[in-house]
Amino acid sequence: MIAATPSAGQLQPGSTSVPRWQQELANAISDPRELCEVLDLDPSLIAPALESARGFPLKVPRRFVAKMRKGDPKDPLLLQVLPVSAEMAFVPGFELDPVGDLQSRAGAGVLHKYHGRALAIATGACAIHCRYCFRRHFPYDEESALRSGWSRAIAALQADATLSEVILSGGDPLSLSDRRLRELTDKLACIPHIRRLRIHTRYPVVLPARIDEELLNWLQSLPIQRVIVIHANHPREIDEEVIAGCRALAAAGATLLNQSVLLAGVNDSPDTLAELSEALFAAGVLPYYLHMLDRVQGAAHFEVPIERALALHEALAARLPGYLLPRLVREIPGAPAKRPVVAV
Ligand SMILES: *Cc1c(COP(=O)(O)O)cnc(C)c1O
Ligand code: SF4
Repeated sequence: MIAATPSAGQLQPGSTSVPRWQQELANAISDPRELCEVLDLDPSLIAPALESARGFPLKVPRRFVAKMRKGDPKDPLLLQVLPVSAEMAFVPGFELDPVGDLQSRAGAGVLHKYHGRALAIATGACAIHCRYCFRRHFPYDEESALRSGWSRAIAALQADATLSEVILSGGDPLSLSDRRLRELTDKLACIPHIRRLRIHTRYPVVLPARIDEELLNWLQSLPIQRVIVIHANHPREIDEEVIAGCRALAAAGATLLNQSVLLAGVNDSPDTLAELSEALFAAGVLPYYLHMLDRVQGAAHFEVPIERALALHEALAARLPGYLLPRLVREIPGAPAKRPVVAV
């Protein structure tokens, strides 16, 4: 038995069946008025936030809000979640489906772009709504692998013996209940060519209560290798509870990696990125990718130009051991892999 924290997996008094993480999720802040009040922010931020939240609502767990600096509208954690008027600007080149997801559907909520691995859209739900998210306009209702009770997704995976890895993405796959996850992996266990399960999730960072005993027991029980790719963008996201959760995931047999998005105003400095890599390693997580922003409509204000991104990455390389340097990549629709960003 592995427990992330002494209280992991326990239920709160007065509740008999809803796990603590689901309670925290239900209790996330979704009203810009409340967010501004909790953080002592200027009320003038509220009106644009309400308007921008109409297309893609505000959602942020209180645990994550607690790491933000009060009274600071430029806080790098706040900038990731606060809807702002810049999202409503139409900027040429920023599209609804910037990475060609809708062209690479294998059907049944499975995206097959790269050799050997297929990505299952497990759910549209996330613990947090990141304003820069490239799937903010994705038609999840039509495309979730769970819609057919996994059966069409499983059939698609079974039919292609070149696949050795299944990637659960979304949305955030850990929004699914442990029962749903178990259902899926029980079915995956019957496909001999699937040797690895990879989970892309922000829960360990934004809602670490998700890493409870149930989840850890499930992870530990899997007969195939498992990789968990977390998503932290700033060193301040990684605190003691996040570290404890990551350690517990590793103890349950998961290899831990991190991907970040390079975001103007959030992490576009060598100091911040170096601290992030160090903080990740202290939690037992290796930096994997530093993504260039996908050019999704509403996120143009987060873009870091390529020349600057390259200069930042070079500065980072000059001060970190190679294993703490994330690969700077971007996604090009139709390319056979994430493409390293190089000088032109
Ligand atoms: C990013 C992505 C992957 C994973 O790529 P890796 O380079 O293996 O991390 C797989 N499938 C799809 C559809 C993706 O977008
Ligand atoms: S899919 Fe990932 S990046 Fe997008 S909103 Fe959800 S957690 Fe954030």
